[in-house]
Amino acid sequence: MIIIMERNATEENIKKVVNLLKEHGFNVIDHAGDIHTVIDAIGDKTTITPDRLSALEGVKEVKSIREPFRLASRDRKPEDTVIEFSNGVKIGGNNPAVGIVGPCSIDSNYEGLLEVAIAAKEAGCEFLRGGAFKPRTSPYDFQGLEEEALKLMARAKEETGLLLVTEVMDSQDLPMICDYVDVVQIGARNMQNFKLLKAVGKCNTPVVLKRGPANTIREFLLAAEHIMYNGNENVILCERGIRTFDNTYTRNTLDLTAVPVIKKYSHLPVIVDPSHATGQRYLIEPMSKAALVVGADGLMIEVHNDPENALSDGKQSLSIPMFKDIIGRISALNKRLHYERECLSANIQ
Ligand code: PEP
Ligand code: MN
Repeated sequence: MIIIMERNATEENIKKVVNLLKEHGFNVIDHAGDIHTVIDAIGDKTTITPDRLSALEGVKEVKSIREPFRLASRDRKPEDTVIEFSNGVKIGGNNPAVGIVGPCSIDSNYEGLLEVAIAAKEAGCEFLRGGAFKPRTSPYDFQGLEEEALKLMARAKEETGLLLVTEVMDSQDLPMICDYVDVVQIGARNMQNFKLLKAVGKCNTPVVLKRGPANTIREFLLAAEHIMYNGNENVILCERGIRTFDNTYTRNTLDLTAVPVIKKYSHLPVIVDPSHATGQRYLIEPMSKAALVVGADGLMIEVHNDPENALSDGKQSLSIPMFKDIIGRISALNKRLHYERECLSANIQ
């Protein structure tokens, strides 16, 4: 850490900082400049945090040299994390991108859900995703079928072999949800629900963590850190668009820079959800392709058998024919990118 003291910091203020750092086992060197004293401190930041130091009298600024997340950091683990499922499906590394497909919320039409699942399976996607507990802005909107939805998903899994993903909103539901699904999703609104992060950290089920619409990439990685710190290292990050000033034509702004930025600083897999990011069907194909080009490890796409009658997010959901139409082109691009990366890593031109 580098601690910059205020212009008018007293000798006593400086001594207090230096002594506190030394007491916590830091190696400390202080440089008295013409105006500011700067203190270099090398040691274990879990014993005394930048936040605590910045509260001391006379401290102007505390700068960390290392990123505040550790377990999620590429410095700790240079190789990509690969999450492997019981059926051999892998997310992360240079594994061909994964398709997580399904309706925003599960309704009681099982045949419709199965149609989506079969289309996803035939297109080579690996996961069926559906909402059972829905975070809705309005209490008057459909809130989800809860366990009944999970039962319908389990039936679709039996018929297709697809792995299941669903959102958890309350840690009390977590054991029951984990009995049904292969991945739990933390929705964008709960990205900083630290109790929920802690709860999923304590279970073994892999987690898709969605970026909050108003959260920085660093906050996103620190949210992942909470899950990992509590014991679950199988975290998949999902960029799903952030709030910017411009929502004229799109629901959110898809921050595609997040993908290569996260990959630079973290070893965790990153997927992209173009459905919530754009809110528009016609943008799913171009933004899915763009996501793969910048290195996304997978895509999460909303598909419904009857979008006009979907109980949530029908406007952005693809119909099955639309999905079938675009997924071929997305997969073809994906295969090409995968092949190019394989060649690059093997040094073949
Ligand atoms: C969802 O995945 O259906 C959802 C509600 O997404 P988000 O949390 O990204 O808004
Ligand atoms: Mn949705």
